[in-house]
Amino acid sequence: MPELPEVESLTHFLRERAVGRTVLGIDVVAFQALKTFDPPATALGGLTITGVSRHGKFLDLDCDGLHLVIHLARAGWLRWRDDLSGAKPVRPGKGPLAVRVRLAPDEEGLAPGFELTEAGTQKRLAVYVTKNPDGVPGIAALGPDPLDGSFTVEALKRIVGGNRTQIKGLLRDQKIIAGIGNAYSDEVLHAAKMSPFKIAATLTDAQIADLHEAIITTLGEAVERAHGLAAKDLKAEKKSGLRVHNRTGQPCDVCGDTIREVSFADSSLQYCPTCQTGGKPLADRRLSRLLK
Ligand SMILES: [Zn+2]
Repeated sequence: MPELPEVESLTHFLRERAVGRTVLGIDVVAFQALKTFDPPATALGGLTITGVSRHGKFLDLDCDGLHLVIHLARAGWLRWRDDLSGAKPVRPGKGPLAVRVRLAPDEEGLAPGFELTEAGTQKRLAVYVTKNPDGVPGIAALGPDPLDGSFTVEALKRIVGGNRTQIKGLLRDQKIIAGIGNAYSDEVLHAAKMSPFKIAATLTDAQIADLHEAIITTLGEAVERAHGLAAKDLKAEKKSGLRVHNRTGQPCDVCGDTIREVSFADSSLQYCPTCQTGGKPLADRRLSRLLK
């Protein structure tokens, strides 16, 4: 799933390639992906892309004041195409292609564009065509962006203060902090040497400062690594840069202990016991149920 660093990189990527170009047309292949009806997606045709920005994990293409807002969700991705002039029309219901955005041809006659794809059967990719991106429900509810200058240690202190939820869940909650998902919350907690189950309100001032540092450093480094990469190379880069997430059974880079996981109904978290939980493995309900 693309999180803040990958969406940030896609934003730069599209800014460089798409700004100044005219939208030739938009093909919505997966109808359920389009969450707005008025104005219709066809209204984007003929408009020029004037800017690309990011809100949390949302991509926002400004087309002369009409915005194409994209949320890639868990299994969505953006694929840039150098030339779509020969692309065949696609029929709904076949394959992972959800939306295709065709741009006007350049002087060389190439008509580039991009495609939004979504793997798997759970379709959560969402696209909005709106004059007011701040009115998109997921954007309207976003918490502060960790890359924004206003996200200070004091701001984080206000966020965790009195919050009785586990820190892992708090970090992933887009309404509390924008842009961090399952992968980077594992990475941040590993960098902060903190148990994912720790209750936010119990953090000391020193721990909040450490957590803030871990958030800024982890996301900043990931943005740095992803910067300038082509859209198609982002997934591999994200994977190779992760220290604990999805690395169950492998040795921890920092201490050599074996990375463990805790499974939930539809996700799992990974952590290093020595670095994060005083060497004690966390209870995994699913695992203990299997052992009974
Ligand atoms: Zn470790």
